[in-house]
Amino acid sequence: MEDNLEFRKDTFSIADRELDKQLRPLSFNDFKGQKQIIDNLVVFVAAAKQRGESLDHVLLHGPPGLGKTTLATIISNELKVNLRVTSGPVLDKPGDLAGLLTNLQEGDVLFIDEIHRLSPVVEEYLYSAMEDFQIDIIIDKGPSARSVQLTLNNFTLIGATTRSGLLTSPLRARFGIKFHLEYYDHEVLTGIVKRSAGILNIKISDEAAVEIAKRSRGTPRIANGLLRRIRDFAQIKGSGRIDIDITKYSLNALNIDQHGLDEMDNRILSAIVDKFNGGPVGLNTIATAVGEESGTIEEVYEPFLIKEGFLKRTPRGREATEHAYKHLGKTFRKDLNGSLF
Ligand code: ADP
Repeated sequence: MEDNLEFRKDTFSIADRELDKQLRPLSFNDFKGQKQIIDNLVVFVAAAKQRGESLDHVLLHGPPGLGKTTLATIISNELKVNLRVTSGPVLDKPGDLAGLLTNLQEGDVLFIDEIHRLSPVVEEYLYSAMEDFQIDIIIDKGPSARSVQLTLNNFTLIGATTRSGLLTSPLRARFGIKFHLEYYDHEVLTGIVKRSAGILNIKISDEAAVEIAKRSRGTPRIANGLLRRIRDFAQIKGSGRIDIDITKYSLNALNIDQHGLDEMDNRILSAIVDKFNGGPVGLNTIATAVGEESGTIEEVYEPFLIKEGFLKRTPRGREATEHAYKHLGKTFRKDLNGSLF
């Protein structure tokens, strides 16, 4: 699944990436939703600034596209420090990490995306850097090789992960601040679509903004992506303005699901309904049926399906709801004992 997430990120063209940068909120005020997280972060950032200390290390977890990288950017902006960005799979050897750490200035933010994919040696190397702002480096080779302890500038590590279940407990324990990002509701997403339309100078009706928000799987990245594609349709097939008609036309042309579910969401629901009579069925069985890791299903897909009422978690396994049957165009039947027949 990781590869699939990568794929979704990488389906952006270079032009899309540029637009993505333009749309990224730069301050707490621009960041919509996740109110409790923002309220707390505003306090922690202000307190650290007042004391003249670096902010405690921050762990952000939640599905892709919900604003983890954006939050790291905002935190560094609000702290008025530099932001260095890297990711777990890129940091191959402790030496790669040492290079980054020794270049950090006092109070800087180091953002490690997909931190659950750090190799164990690099992860262990990170421990003393996070805890004591010290690292050991080996200088020279062969018989004269020796280890020297280096003191680093104080810094804030912001780790982001879609799979918090894969983090080791020693690493997790070294983060003083931990937040779980939730999917966005339609109102907040509508606000994000309107904000993005404003930045891109696109005229959009309220009704169209709501429709895009509803079809975006609770995810700002998807909402912004749809807005850009619908802008293309409006330009070529419509009047240039995004209204509800061109929105519906475009969403159909793009094969976007009525509820914004993606292909894997639909595969999971179809598997439960078609192969296991609607459930209850165990997570591992579903994972095998759809060819996906069970942890990814649990942490990335299931939360949205449960939030939107398509899936239920029961002590005996996962069950598809009546809503899921309707969505798949199937008839929902239950016997008196509650099991499906
Ligand atoms: P993640 O790191 O969690 O995968 P990003 O931070 O890259 O997600 O967010 C993807 C895009 O979605 C950003 O470029 C930004 O434009 C938009 N975005 C995310 N969260 C918000 C938000 N709360 N308000 C406005 N835009 C957002």
